Amino acid sequence: MSTTEKTSVVSGFYKLPIEKRREFVGQFANLSEDDMKIFSSCLDLTTADRMIENVLGTFELPLGLAVNFLINGKEYILPMATEESSVVAAASNAAKIARIKGGFSASCSEPLMIGQLQVLHLNDVVTAAQQILQHKEQLLTVANAQDKILVDLGGGARDLEVRILDSPLGHMIVTHLIVDVRDAMGANAVNTMCEALAPMLEEISGGKVRLKILSNLADKRLVKATAHFDKEKMGGEQVVDAFLESYMLASIDPYRAATHNKGIMNGIDALIIATGNDSRAIEAGAHAYAARNGRYSSLTRYYKDDDGNLVGEIELPMAVGVIGGAANMHPKARLCRKILRISTARELAEVGASLGLAQNFAALFALSTVGIQKGHMSLHAKNIAVMAGAQGTEIETLADQLVHDGKVKLDYAKELLEKIRKKVK
Ligand code: NAD
Repeated sequence: MSTTEKTSVVSGFYKLPIEKRREFVGQFANLSEDDMKIFSSCLDLTTADRMIENVLGTFELPLGLAVNFLINGKEYILPMATEESSVVAAASNAAKIARIKGGFSASCSEPLMIGQLQVLHLNDVVTAAQQILQHKEQLLTVANAQDKILVDLGGGARDLEVRILDSPLGHMIVTHLIVDVRDAMGANAVNTMCEALAPMLEEISGGKVRLKILSNLADKRLVKATAHFDKEKMGGEQVVDAFLESYMLASIDPYRAATHNKGIMNGIDALIIATGNDSRAIEAGAHAYAARNGRYSSLTRYYKDDDGNLVGEIELPMAVGVIGGAANMHPKARLCRKILRISTARELAEVGASLGLAQNFAALFALSTVGIQKGHMSLHAKNIAVMAGAQGTEIETLADQLVHDGKVKLDYAKELLEKIRKKVK
């Protein structure tokens, strides 16, 4: 496969043996022999012991590959680390439909993170707020002195905002330090700056600085993605209408919106984990953003274009990095970035948002037509077969029979397994 001819479309990828799948990825992403060895390796204990405390071992997750993605005109195959069946297949199917109309268009704002400094015990909050703002330039200079590397790369502290909040403890000030974190997730960078500013802020305001930490509601670091889904491929305009009816519930009801957004995060988290990023940070930002208007709602929006095709849009904060944290420490995270063929946090965020939209489209499409269980069942049946005690080829045989009989249940699986074994004897 030459570099100019690379496509992420592979029909029957799921039918290939694992070695053949690896071969495809190796060619697509120009992986070296050493890179290829990483697929079979585990995180070494010395690295693991450096990453967290009290290490006992490592914990593995399946790493799969979503194919068919076309994002901003570029072909992508997406590594996804997840324990949930059907997620990878659903993303690949959605991407296949999206590419009929040109794939996903995604864009990102500047990588601006917010650090919060909480200032308490103030006699006059308004005067203190004015004092802080008057010293903005000095405060930004002190913040930037903490991270020369970041500043040299064109990032660093950009702005300072002051909010006055009322609370049962009385009025307090929250100073927001706005930092351009370039290609990092930015938590450590921002926290270091906030801690360095605290003594100066106390001096300027006459108050006491308590919390000094990043906000995970990264609403200045937003990513958007959009795609048109072909109505004919979906099964006609009545299916598009059914889809829109299903979507409507997520836009008006938090009970549905929570499940709807969980489906979005099925995709995003899997990519975030595979690239060594902080999934809790992305989750917290996404859900807080979903409630930004005072009521928790959908992170996606759907409508019809003039020709009756479905248009999907997603917008959410995406604090991801390709440098720092575990992104560089974990060999599989480095490998996954190579597979993605990305080198910037911006591009990773755009891929993440596109994947979230694909995942959400796939779930709603299934829910509005055949229901979600059909796709889930064949993989779920394999889990049930294993739980029932099936081994080797028995797993496939038993799972197929469970799906065929429409009874993917543990007690029935045990019963069937006994029968299968008796027959073999
Ligand atoms: P980091 O400190 O490891 O790396 C960032 C640093 O790398 C920058 O400060 C800069 O000096 C340097 N750098 C080199 N090249 C760069 C480039 N191209 N772009 C940007 N910086 C570059 O990591 P971080 O991103 O500041 O913090 C991420 C970690 O913090 C994650 O592991 C996360 O889990 C953790 N964390 C998160 C929270 C939270 O989300 N609330 C709180 C604390 C820590």
